[in-house]
Amino acid sequence: MAERGLTLMAVHAHPDDEATSTGGVLARYAAEGITTVLVTCTDGGCGDGPGGVKPGDPGHDPAAVVAMRQAELEASCAALKVSHLETLGYADSGMMGWSTNELPGAFWNTPVTEAAQRLAELIRRYRPDVVVTYDENGFYGHPDHIQAHRITMAAVEMTDIPAKVYWTTVPRTAFAEFGRVMRELGVEWAEPDETPGADAPGPQLGLPDDEITTWVDTSSYGAQKFDALAAHASQTENIFFLRLGRDRFVDLMGRETFVRVRDTTGAALPEDDLFAGLR
Ligand SMILES: [Zn+2]
Repeated sequence: MAERGLTLMAVHAHPDDEATSTGGVLARYAAEGITTVLVTCTDGGCGDGPGGVKPGDPGHDPAAVVAMRQAELEASCAALKVSHLETLGYADSGMMGWSTNELPGAFWNTPVTEAAQRLAELIRRYRPDVVVTYDENGFYGHPDHIQAHRITMAAVEMTDIPAKVYWTTVPRTAFAEFGRVMRELGVEWAEPDETPGADAPGPQLGLPDDEITTWVDTSSYGAQKFDALAAHASQTENIFFLRLGRDRFVDLMGRETFVRVRDTTGAALPEDDLFAGLR
């Protein structure tokens, strides 16, 4: 097998995002002998502190949070057998509207071109065939996710190297199923408003099934994905997947889904492999 020379690069905003949305593909493609590169843009300093201390609360020490999350990120990469971890080291911007958005060094406050140039250097070094990041809304509107999207698209433009680029997404039908399971488990779960014509407060998350181009079977890698998520133990409260428990998680999380937004291979859609057309 060993598909010699093929490389996958995933560009994420925070430590833990690599596990949430791409843990399955990172584990699967590593197992297939593909080189996997994770680029994490921020230090995660706005995450929960040791003992669950929330950002902005007394005792929340961003430097301690950063050190802890770096160690967790490395453990997650070990679980997923990521070949190369690269961190850009920008300060976590926090949620939209937080004063941390405007701090010097905050990722959201960094010119797109400047950060994109740093990412472009990594793209030139690793020459990924496939790059994965978020959609223009950063999947759910977090400024660092939006910024990761922007710098990735700019760096792809600058280098013209990746044959294929994908945005992570979730089928809306999966949200419904997931909500049902969470309620069964007694977990508080806000249902997206499905009423036709309802005034949605923001863009709806995920996509209708027929707009998803790429469905990757990651069912054999659910345990690795769960272990990667569990490596981010300090953020447990924010990682609702962990509430499922390992066995239930492995049963439920059998695939990861994407929208293909750049392709030079001509591989037919829908496809079941990020590397379709490349091997
Ligand atoms: Zn994130």
